[in-house]
Amino acid sequence: MRVINSVKTLLRSLEKMIVSYRAAWNDALRAALLQRRCLWMKGPFRPHIVVLPTRAGRLGAWTFANTIYISRTQLSCPPHVRNYIVGHELGHMINGDVFIQLLFFLSYLAMIITTGTGSAINLLGILLSSLSLLMLAVPSLALEREINADRVAVQLYGARQVLEGCLWMARRLDEMHSPQRIARLKQLRQYLAAPSAEPGHGGRPGV
Ligand SMILES: [Zn+2]
Repeated sequence: MRVINSVKTLLRSLEKMIVSYRAAWNDALRAALLQRRCLWMKGPFRPHIVVLPTRAGRLGAWTFANTIYISRTQLSCPPHVRNYIVGHELGHMINGDVFIQLLFFLSYLAMIITTGTGSAINLLGILLSSLSLLMLAVPSLALEREINADRVAVQLYGARQVLEGCLWMARRLDEMHSPQRIARLKQLRQYLAAPSAEPGHGGRPGV
């Protein structure tokens, strides 16, 4: 009986901890939105965070439409990493990257539904899904999107915090030798070395 009670207490405190982590993520997003947002980020389109019920170590954070997905692995990360992830993923929304995803998703769906009809919608679906897939898959374009999303995070939190957050993610996801991650870290170090990174400016390009 005593063991069962101890397990119940442990589960309750674990649940409380998860609730407080979720609140911290939502607070970070709310604070970021007070600084940077687009006109469309209102009502049902307001960005929000979904925590996936997985601890898969290699699963990073990503965004689809107005939703930021994180795994349990990131849930308890340090505050500066949380800010980095929120700023970076919000950057994908602010920069319009999510619309390329949506264009691919919707045009691909239209293409599948109208397969074999030879209709104009089918042709348009093939054209737009190919075009958007190309934009998503070309490595140089993908890198540019990541760097631009990091730039929004830097504008929100400063280069030092974002660089440290990016390093934490690179180590956690085992991406220290990935060419894309190396290029992103190099860009962040350049922001930090820039004159605007002097104390009091926080290394915030474009602010
Ligand atoms: Zn990204």
